[in-house]
Amino acid sequence: MPYETIAGGKELASRLAHSNAIVRAMADKAEFYVPAEHVSDLSWLQPKIRTRSELERTIGTNQLTAVIGIDGSLMVVPVRDGLPSVRYGYAQAAAIWLDVNLMETQRNERFVDPVVLHEAVNSALVSLDMPVAGAYLRAGITIQQSWRECIDALFRGKKIEVNRLNQSLLQLLMLLHGAPGAPATTVPVDCPEALCKQKAIPVPESGCDCPGCGKVLWPTDTLRIYEEVVEDGENAAALGRLMQVVELLVLVGLSTLLWEQSRSALFATTLFIVDGPMAVYGPPAKLRARALTYFQKMTPAAPGAGPFICGVEKHGAAVDYATALARHEALKPGELLIVDSEVIAKMTNATNSIAYGSETYWGRKFLYRALDGRVVVITVMPAAGAPYDDHGGQHDPSAYPSLPAILDVIDRTGSSMYRDGLIPVALAHSKAAYPIGIGTDVLRLVAKHKLGLEDLNEGGQA
Ligand SMILES: [Zn+2]
Repeated sequence: MPYETIAGGKELASRLAHSNAIVRAMADKAEFYVPAEHVSDLSWLQPKIRTRSELERTIGTNQLTAVIGIDGSLMVVPVRDGLPSVRYGYAQAAAIWLDVNLMETQRNERFVDPVVLHEAVNSALVSLDMPVAGAYLRAGITIQQSWRECIDALFRGKKIEVNRLNQSLLQLLMLLHGAPGAPATTVPVDCPEALCKQKAIPVPESGCDCPGCGKVLWPTDTLRIYEEVVEDGENAAALGRLMQVVELLVLVGLSTLLWEQSRSALFATTLFIVDGPMAVYGPPAKLRARALTYFQKMTPAAPGAGPFICGVEKHGAAVDYATALARHEALKPGELLIVDSEVIAKMTNATNSIAYGSETYWGRKFLYRALDGRVVVITVMPAAGAPYDDHGGQHDPSAYPSLPAILDVIDRTGSSMYRDGLIPVALAHSKAAYPIGIGTDVLRLVAKHKLGLEDLNEGGQA
């Protein structure tokens, strides 16, 4: 499996290089449609373009002074010689805090000093590790059961430890299902037993027995991550789902901390940036609606146009499309493209663009060309209502009062020093990323040690 490198690329073993070249040669001869290669006539985009200054005039803006960037990374490694199916997984989420004013001072020096930059940054980490394939928490259970028990234990034990925030992932999950300052007392769980049809059972933080089949239910079962766990496979995708949930919970924890303790000062002047779009994919996708509801509950009492939250995409069809638009000068520095269903249809080649994103996104995509020429694909949360729904959702910038302040931070935190151009994102990524190479061996050793301590039923796996 190619791991994502610190730079965001894929690390491929050199022996794969040849087959890579062969596939590329085959692709060159084949015929297929790539939306980003068909952007010749762009006059239809003109009515959908707004300038940053125009948005500031019509919506108003706040000047933000700090950024909290959140990013995660994960790795699945084989840990038993001769048993390649035995896999151990690590997931880690990092949050960095960046003083934008201090960073700007550095930028005016023409050359960014990494030492000074790191002094402007504080970071927090939460990491998880667990057997993900071919190894179980204990003898006599399925891999899905093993995952459910592991996630329950991790969520109870793992705490995000920053100033005065000493909450477990489970407490943050209950919080996300409630309101800022008021965690839910139960979360809805569909019984994971195949033959039991009980739905939306209210499960408290301590867990409870299913009223239908009597089996134990944990609050983390609401995430349904076990649904993607298979006996044969490395289960990296399921670990990825878990990772995106942990990243969201880190955002919930840190934003709520500022909300409760420094609402008019820090909360009002901080932009939260998450890596990737503001979306939740796969079985936990219902959290998308929880996140939207949770953060919109902050809106009426938030100073200015907050909460200020945005997602930044580093790769994907939207990034390719935005890059192509910039290359054709269809989007000029300081210009924002509204991504309505017509743009979505072109960008994703989708036939049902009207319902795009309604099941996964809690923010709306916008394409922005920063003043220094970089292209950024962001997602932003509307002050009220859903960003996408079955009827196209809300695409007009006026529904997104935090947008001008977010564009301002994007313009102020760009740097050619980092390839993806946004310093907070790059910093969070560098904190979350595992070192490739040396790191793999170290992690493998630790994993072996951990698995060795447990009396695992590894031989029973097909
Ligand atoms: Zn049941």
